[in-house]
Amino acid sequence: MPILLILLLLGVLAYLYWRRKTTTLTRECRWRRTAPGQWRCAFCGAEMASEASPVVCLRRVN
Ligand SMILES: [Zn+2]
Repeated sequence: MPILLILLLLGVLAYLYWRRKTTTLTRECRWRRTAPGQWRCAFCGAEMASEASPVVCLRRVN
């Protein structure tokens, strides 16, 4: 069933493309996990409580 593999590959590519478009992270923003569920940006010093890795830099938002 090679058609299933092709569909799976397309899905992965679409997911990666969607991730690239929706993230605002730059090389100037590095989130580090300081505690379970707690993240801190090493560059702007912002802190965020989140289960997953944050995808935005608070320095850009503010
Ligand atoms: Zn930042």
